[in-house]
Amino acid sequence: MSSKGRLSTREKLGKLHTGLTFDDVLLVPRYSRVRSRHDVNISTKLTPKITLNIPIISANMDTVTESEMAVALAREGGIGIIHRFMGLEAQVAQVQRVKRMESIIIESPYALGSNAKISDVRKMMREKNVGGILIIDDEGKLEGIVTTRDLRFVEYSNSSVTAVMTKRKDLVVGTWGKTTIDKAKKIMQDEKIEKLPLVDSRDKLKGLVTAKDILKRKEFPNATKDSKGRLRVGAAIGVRGDFLERAKKLVDSDVDVLVLDIAHGDSAYALEAIKRIKKALPEVELIAGNIATSEGAAHLIKSGADSIKVGVGSGSICITRIVTGSGVPQLTAISDCSLIAKDSGVTLIADGGIRNSGDITKSLVAGADSVMIGSLLAGTDESPGEIVFRGTQRYKVTRGMASMAARRDQLQREGRLVSESEVQNHEDGDLSDFVPEGVEAIVPYKGGAVFVIRQLAGGLRSGLSYCGASNLKELKSNGRFIKITDVGLIESKPHDVVTDL
Ligand code: IMP
Repeated sequence: MSSKGRLSTREKLGKLHTGLTFDDVLLVPRYSRVRSRHDVNISTKLTPKITLNIPIISANMDTVTESEMAVALAREGGIGIIHRFMGLEAQVAQVQRVKRMESIIIESPYALGSNAKISDVRKMMREKNVGGILIIDDEGKLEGIVTTRDLRFVEYSNSSVTAVMTKRKDLVVGTWGKTTIDKAKKIMQDEKIEKLPLVDSRDKLKGLVTAKDILKRKEFPNATKDSKGRLRVGAAIGVRGDFLERAKKLVDSDVDVLVLDIAHGDSAYALEAIKRIKKALPEVELIAGNIATSEGAAHLIKSGADSIKVGVGSGSICITRIVTGSGVPQLTAISDCSLIAKDSGVTLIADGGIRNSGDITKSLVAGADSVMIGSLLAGTDESPGEIVFRGTQRYKVTRGMASMAARRDQLQREGRLVSESEVQNHEDGDLSDFVPEGVEAIVPYKGGAVFVIRQLAGGLRSGLSYCGASNLKELKSNGRFIKITDVGLIESKPHDVVTDL
C-alpha cells in the first residue's frame, strides 16, 4: 500500500477476481421428477408487468429486429425489440405493424376516402401488408370495402375505388362494442365472409374483425399478447437528440416496452435519460442498459428502470473489450448484477454472447430472467437484409450497431455523411473520427426464425429437466455450476469424430 493509501499496481493485480463465462462452467445434473421436457414451464417476467412464455428477446439491431422478427418471436412466446436506426415515423410504423398483426378486433382499421383511386388502395395494401381497405366518407361513415379479391383481375388503376368496392348496402357489418368474437365468428361463418367491419350507431367505422386473425390465435397458443389480444412488441430509444419525443410517440402507438439502448449504461447520460423518461411517462415499462457490475445495476434501479440489461463486450459482433479494454465475462456479470436486482423487484436480461440453448440455461441459473439474442437470429428469413453468397453457400449480414458500416449508413440516412475532402471542415458526419466498437460479419442463412426459436426453447426445456426443475423459479434454486478446464470443454463438444459442427 502506498503512503497515500492507494493500491500499487502489483497490489491491484494481486487482488483480481476471476470472471467466468458460459464455456467456463457446466450445470451439474440433478435428480429430476420431470417426465418430459414438454411438461416444464419456461414462462418468465420480461419486466414486472409483462410476462413472456419463453424467455427470449430479439436484439434491437438493424440486422435482427424489425416487425417480421418481432411478429415471429411474439407468436412463439418471446418478444422483439424494434431497433432505433431509422426515422421516428418509420419506427412507429414498425410497432404498429406488429400491433395490428393479430389483434382480434382491430381498432381504427386502415381506411381511405371514397375519392381514392385503385392505385391508392393497392399502395396502402402493399405498404401496410393487409388484404383489405375500408372506404369511408368525410364524416368517417362506412361506404364500402375493397379486398385483394376485388382487384385480382383489375388492370386499370386510375379509376375511382367506388368502381370495384363492395358497397355499404351489400356489406354485412357488426356493432362496435356489442359484437363479441363468438358472434363475429358466427356471422362470418353464416355469411361466408372473411372480414367483418364494426360500426357505431351512426354507421361510423370503428373496427374490423378478420377470420385470418381468429385462426392465427389457434395456430399460436403460446403467443405473447397484450390485454387486447395484440402481439406485444418493444422498441429501442437512445439517450440523445429526440429520445424523449421518440419515447412519447412510441408509447402513443401502444408499444409495450421501451429499451433505453446505450453501450455504457452506468453513465450520467443514461441515468439522467431514465429519470426523464420515467417522469414524462410514468406508466411505461422501461428496460435500461447495458451494464456489467452490481454498482451499475444499483444505479439503473435507483434511477427508475423496471428491468436491467446486462452485457458489456459479450456480443458476437462486439469489439468493445478489444478497443477499450473494458468488460466483464458474461456469466460473472449476470451473477453480480442479479444479487442487486433480485432484492429490488426489477428483472434482469442477459444480453449478448448466447450461442446455443445451453448458454440460455446457464444465464438463467446465474440470475437472468430472460436473454437477448442478436446474431443467432440474424441469419433467418425474418431478419432484415438480403441473402448473400460466398461460393455456393448462403449467408446473411449481421453487424454491430457501433460498427463502421452501421455508422456510415446512419449518417447517410440522416444526410450528414461528408466526403473525405470535406472532412477538415466538419465536426460531425466524419467517419475518420469515429471509433467503432462493433464489426460487420456474415452468419449462415438458417431459414425461418421459428425453427431457431423452437430449438432454443426446446433445448432450454431439456436443460430444466437436467437440473431437476419444472419451472424457472426451481431452475434458479436447483441449478448448480461446476467450473471446468479447457480439457473439459473439449470433452463437452463432439470429439474424435468427423463433424461439420
Ligand atoms: P449477440 O447475441 O452475441 O449477437 O449479441 C447481441 C448484443 O450485442 C446486442 O443486444 C447488443 O447489446 C450488443 N451489440 C450490438 N451492436 C454492438 C456493437 O456494435 N458493439 C458492441 N455490442 C453490440
